[in-house]
Amino acid sequence: MKDSSLLKSLYNLDNAFGVSGEETEVAGVLFKEMEGLYDEHFEDAMGNQYFVRYGKDKERKILFSAHMDEIGFIINYIEDNGLIRFLPVGYHDDRNAVNQDMIVMTDSGKKVMGVTGAKPAHIMTAEDHEKVQKIEDLFLDVGTTSREETLALGINMGDYIGFAREGYVLNGGKYYTGKAVDDRSACAVMVEVLKRLKGEDIGPTVVMVGSVQEEVGLRAGVPIMNNIDPEVMIALDVTLTGDTPGVPIEKCSQKMGDGPGVKYYDWDPDRAMGNNVSRKVTRAIIKTAEKHGIPFQREVFIGGGTDAWQAPMVGKGYLAGGICIPQRYMHTAVGTIHMDDLENTVKLTEHFIRDYKGL
Ligand SMILES: [Zn+2]
Repeated sequence: MKDSSLLKSLYNLDNAFGVSGEETEVAGVLFKEMEGLYDEHFEDAMGNQYFVRYGKDKERKILFSAHMDEIGFIINYIEDNGLIRFLPVGYHDDRNAVNQDMIVMTDSGKKVMGVTGAKPAHIMTAEDHEKVQKIEDLFLDVGTTSREETLALGINMGDYIGFAREGYVLNGGKYYTGKAVDDRSACAVMVEVLKRLKGEDIGPTVVMVGSVQEEVGLRAGVPIMNNIDPEVMIALDVTLTGDTPGVPIEKCSQKMGDGPGVKYYDWDPDRAMGNNVSRKVTRAIIKTAEKHGIPFQREVFIGGGTDAWQAPMVGKGYLAGGICIPQRYMHTAVGTIHMDDLENTVKLTEHFIRDYKGL
């Protein structure tokens, strides 16, 4: 597993910068990883990346989507003393933003390092200890002493900030931990699937999409369906696990290492949206898993969302499904996945393509 091409792709993709709205670097890495694996590549106005691998029936298309973007922050003010104030981009728990290494992506594409700070424990009042330090109260320190010095680093308001944590395999085992396994792990799956199908005649044309801005409102869902018009779309994403203390297993039933989650339900009560995965697609995915002896978990989860959300309602309406990689510590810099789950997600996707004869 140590030097597997799947792990290498994951590492390369995970360590690229790609805060929602600033996905150029990660798109470049995905493009490089996909080299030699597709017949056609294009990018739309939003920046979604399409890798098209022709099937025997070129016009018959199935689409897989994995989002390239990650949650992060955006600079909204630079103080007189050079410290930087920022706001959240995507869905954060404020407690995870303080005392972190961060990267600012400047307009010129230069990366600048910084650390986030707040009031130290020693001078906190009893009341402070009870409170969460809000993101808007934190600051990024880039080692400057004035606004001019910060600006001179190329930093300005509007620049995106991302977590600066290099991913790695925990103690030579099967857990990989990184800042953006949501959803670079599924981007790595798309690369690996096309690698394994290389040179093979496949029935339908396969379109692998690296999408943008998923974390800020699942915004690529509509354009990718309009641009491709596929017979079916399957979102490849991560999902929460319930196998750590404090996470109720009856709410998050997925476990690390037990195989990819196959989505049965993804209703969001707050926005009255869902269910967006078609039972027809779910059953076809399960059939593939059972036929090839690939472990999987049935996933029923309320409150999640993927690029598949818009698919049933856009244009003429589409069939959608979801295959999800179990992930611990969702939306933090220490997201963790199990490499067996990643491998089985590759297998499931690969066989779904091979077996596909329409739904
Ligand atoms: Zn995701």
